Amino acid sequence: MKTISKPIYNLRTLYWPTTLFLLGLPLLALILTPIYFALQIPSWGILISAIVYMFFLNFCITAGYHRYYSHRTFQAKPWLQWVWLIFGAGAFQMSALKWCSDHRRHHKNVDTNDDPYSIAKGSFYAHMGWILLKDSEIYKNKFAADLEKNKRVSWQHRNYYWLAILMSFGVPTLWGWALGDALGGFLIIGVWRQLINWHITFFVNSVCHMWGSQPYSLKHSAKDNFIVALLAVGEGYHNFHHTFEGDYRNGVKWYNWDPTKWAIRSLSLAGQTYKLRRTSKEAILRSRLQADQERLSVRGVNTEALTRVQTQIEGVMSKINELKKDYDLLKTEYRKKAADWEQTRKEKILHLKAELELAKIELRNRLNQWSRYVDIMSAAPTYT
Ligand SMILES: [Zn+2]
Ligand SMILES: [Zn+2]
Repeated sequence: MKTISKPIYNLRTLYWPTTLFLLGLPLLALILTPIYFALQIPSWGILISAIVYMFFLNFCITAGYHRYYSHRTFQAKPWLQWVWLIFGAGAFQMSALKWCSDHRRHHKNVDTNDDPYSIAKGSFYAHMGWILLKDSEIYKNKFAADLEKNKRVSWQHRNYYWLAILMSFGVPTLWGWALGDALGGFLIIGVWRQLINWHITFFVNSVCHMWGSQPYSLKHSAKDNFIVALLAVGEGYHNFHHTFEGDYRNGVKWYNWDPTKWAIRSLSLAGQTYKLRRTSKEAILRSRLQADQERLSVRGVNTEALTRVQTQIEGVMSKINELKKDYDLLKTEYRKKAADWEQTRKEKILHLKAELELAKIELRNRLNQWSRYVDIMSAAPTYT
């Protein structure tokens, strides 16, 4: 493994256009805010617009740039792709082409020297330091050859700068003007919203690689962090995401706060997104068990008992799969032949259903047994 080279910030290594913009915008906000407040206080219209626009632009990044373009976790109608590209530019995080290439590089090389926002190079670097530095030319769009051929993506790439300025500052100023407060539109919906937008996205690269839980894998630094999920419309479940990057969900459980997942799902019910990719329940469960086991063996705990329970869990899981397959098959057949009623088939379905329920109870018991073991072993003194 290559050693990690520490980032050096100096006149030669900094990329001035982004450095001046990233550091100049907060300065502009600090100068303009007291002047604005001396003149007036923002109306509810301006404040609510800023919040709505912030979440909407963020959604264009999470659903569009991230889950659609970077990972291809679902398919979408062209009008949606246009919305993501036009408003995504307004989040001022570079074109989809550059963003996706960097992001795929991050997944492929996570925590190494080749990770564009490697946490191994420090929290500031992962948060925003990497944007301030010149990027090596060898990585230019290297991971997005497919997107380079995409007409919509390359149009956005060619027109990125004027589009970004228009959507990030132009539209907010116009909207503010329509509400009778052009300066408020520029300052609050434009500048302040942009600053908050940036740092929320940056938190995914910094906070989610430092603080949180690792239920699915210990092989990378990504963590599930609920606070970041709240702010970043669902992107905080980063441990799941790095483990199963092809899944359109980041918060995999139904109650996980993942509005991006809910929006993609709702759009699919309306026929606007389709072919949503999900990781199988077995694969997710296997990763969870594996992560628990690794956590304990890192502490030096003997995990023999866990291995036994894991074998039992996997046995029950495959039994459930078989039963479910039989059950679904019979159900389809039964529906097809509903006209000529067949008592035996009906009884067979009921029987299979009961068996399936029993297997599920068995699985729940085994999982409870597993978590009891994990709790006991976690509390036990280590041998190290
Ligand atoms: Zn990451
Ligand atoms: Zn990703």
